[in-house]
Amino acid sequence: MTTSDRAALIRLDGVSRRFRRGAETVVAVADVTFELAPGELTVVSGPSGSGKTTLLNLLLGWEQPDDGVRTTSVPTDRWTGLAVVPQQLGLIDHCTVGENVRLPGRANELVLDPAEVMDRLGIGHLAERFPQETSLGEQQRTAVARAIVTRPRVLVVDEPTSHQDERNTERIVELLVEVARSGSAVVAATHDERVTTIADRRFEMRDGHLTPPNA
Ligand code: ADP
Ligand code: MG
Repeated sequence: MTTSDRAALIRLDGVSRRFRRGAETVVAVADVTFELAPGELTVVSGPSGSGKTTLLNLLLGWEQPDDGVRTTSVPTDRWTGLAVVPQQLGLIDHCTVGENVRLPGRANELVLDPAEVMDRLGIGHLAERFPQETSLGEQQRTAVARAIVTRPRVLVVDEPTSHQDERNTERIVELLVEVARSGSAVVAATHDERVTTIADRRFEMRDGHLTPPNA
C-alpha cells in the first residue's frame, strides 16, 4: 500500500459513466482513476460538457459508475464528512440566507462561526433575506458559506466563482485555500483562471478523460 492509498478519502478506480440520448451514447466520464487526499486543493478544469460535473457527482456518490469502483472512508451522509457547492447551488428557498448557512448545524457541530463566514463572503447583511431576494452571486456565496461552516473532511465545489466579480472571487478563493490548509480535501471544477492558479494539483477534463495539464 502506498502513502496515497492510505491517505485517500475518496477514490475512483477505473470509473466510467455513460448517458444514453436517443440512439447516441455519451461517455461523460471515461475510465477515470482519481483520489482525494486530506489537505490538498485539487482543480479539475476543462470545457463545458467535458464531464466535470459528472465526475464530481461520482465522487459525491450522487451518481453510480457504470464501470469501476468508488471507495470512501468519510461519512458521506453528513455535512462534516462531505460538503458540496452544487452547480445549481441547492439553497432552500423558504429558509433565509442565514438559516441556509446554519443548516448543517442542525445535525452537526459547526467548526466555523457562520456570522463570520458570511461577513467574509460579503453576505452578512443579507442574513434575514430569502435567497430569491438576493443576487445569483450572493446565492452562490451563501452556498459556499453553508458548505464550509462544518469544515468538512471533503469539500466539493462546482464552478464556485461562475457568478462572481474579482473581489468576491478573491474572497471565495481565500476561504477554499484556508479550508484545504486546515486539512480538508478540496476539489473544484472550474475554468476560472483565478481558481486554477491556487491548485495543489491540476487536472484537465477532455471528453470524459482526465489528464494532468501538459500530459
Ligand atoms: P461539465 O460539467 O464539464 O459541463 P457534465 O458532466 O455536466 O459536463 O456533462 C458531460 C456530458 O454528459 C455532456 O455531454 C452532457 O450533456 C452529458 N450529460 C450529463 N448529465 C447527463 C444526463 N443526466 N443525461 C444525459 N446526458 C448527460
Ligand atoms: Mg458542470
